[in-house]
Amino acid sequence: MRNICLLGATGSIGQSALDIIDRHPDRFRISALSAYSQVDKLLELCARHRPQYACIAQETLLPELTAGLRKVGLGTEAVAGFPALEQLAADAGSDTVIAAIVGAAGVASTLSAIRAGKRVLLANKESVVLAGRILMDLVRESGAELFPVDSEHNAIYQCLPKDGDGRGVRRLILTASGGPFLGRTRSELRHITPEQACKHPKWSMGRKISVDSATLMNKGLEVIEAHHLFNTPVKRIEVLVHPQSIVHSLVDYHDGSVLAQMGNPDMRTAIAYGLSHPERIDSGVPALDLRAIGSLQFEAPDTATFPCLDLAFQAAERAGNAPAVLNAANETAVELFLQGSLPFLAIPEIIERTMDSIAWEPDGDLDVLLASDARARVEATRIAAAKRIDP
Ligand code: NAD
Ligand code: MG
Repeated sequence: MRNICLLGATGSIGQSALDIIDRHPDRFRISALSAYSQVDKLLELCARHRPQYACIAQETLLPELTAGLRKVGLGTEAVAGFPALEQLAADAGSDTVIAAIVGAAGVASTLSAIRAGKRVLLANKESVVLAGRILMDLVRESGAELFPVDSEHNAIYQCLPKDGDGRGVRRLILTASGGPFLGRTRSELRHITPEQACKHPKWSMGRKISVDSATLMNKGLEVIEAHHLFNTPVKRIEVLVHPQSIVHSLVDYHDGSVLAQMGNPDMRTAIAYGLSHPERIDSGVPALDLRAIGSLQFEAPDTATFPCLDLAFQAAERAGNAPAVLNAANETAVELFLQGSLPFLAIPEIIERTMDSIAWEPDGDLDVLLASDARARVEATRIAAAKRIDP
């Protein structure tokens, strides 16, 4: 029986994970659940899964959570705030942590789960972008088992040799759907609304990652993620647009073999893989029907229309605090766009200008990276002020 701490339970990945867990009550038990601010939704999940702990990240909501749990007579203990999230991630009551919080807000709890040597299903890609070297060092030191819950990285993980050190691998090829605006010109992107950007043609996801997919920053973050997770130089990572999202990524070997992992675009496959490894279990994802799909297409990404991908490659090459700055500027710009106060096309511009104005620092400890993250947020907000539109 796996005892699971699910951080970010109310989100898209959280819901997909719970769907799998519901299908296998003989294998999985929920020991802790967390949400940012949706108390009612968290209470509903507690009633169904009866965890030992429920954590609401926004501390002011603790009384509401406590009262709600008491009202329905649940024995679940209510906790709140970021230190509580970190404690839950390391708590002995769970052996498996699903890190499904969005953004750099998930860094501390992800690192805490790794430090505690857990099996960690890592969806929170921003923590790898911000602190990839520190995170991977911790994995080695603690003996944590890390399973990528990003369809591309899960695919590559499945295609890499299990015993090897990456020798024999020529390239990692990350596929990208191209997002909702594939094939559009810059002028067609001028008046894009948050609703349009969040309507992904193949994947149903949270709003932040949906916008990242629309700008191609998601693929940029994934390049940095792959660089760290698979200890592969940035120059040997390529991006290939594949609108059908059936081939989730590929590993190109020196002998000419290319291994790919395929499946329907549904995150439950990657989550189930990490939950049940080395076994394979039913994830609820329908069998792939290639006859119905018919043809698969591949093309180069349009980096002129979607400059975020190149910005991420630059940050990956610069290393040090550059990925942390890129990520923080992106989170700030995307949030402003989602609030309706920033044009879509201003997102890459704000990231680029923030990267230019924050001093580069070599890869330091976590405090150095978090300080760069904080400075970049202030700087991106300042730069964005001149671009604001009235919602
Ligand atoms: P989401 O917005 O649907 O859910 C985010 C979850 O995090 C929610 O439970 C929310 O309550 C919680 N949260 C948000 N801000 C928080 C904060 N400041 N502190 C604590 N908790 C907070 O996002 P999602 O689509 O589920 O994505 C989660 C992570 O998984 C992201 O890092 C994303 O890049 C990654 N990911 C998602 C998908 C997908 O298909 N959705 C695919 C690959 C990777
Ligand atoms: Mg992905």
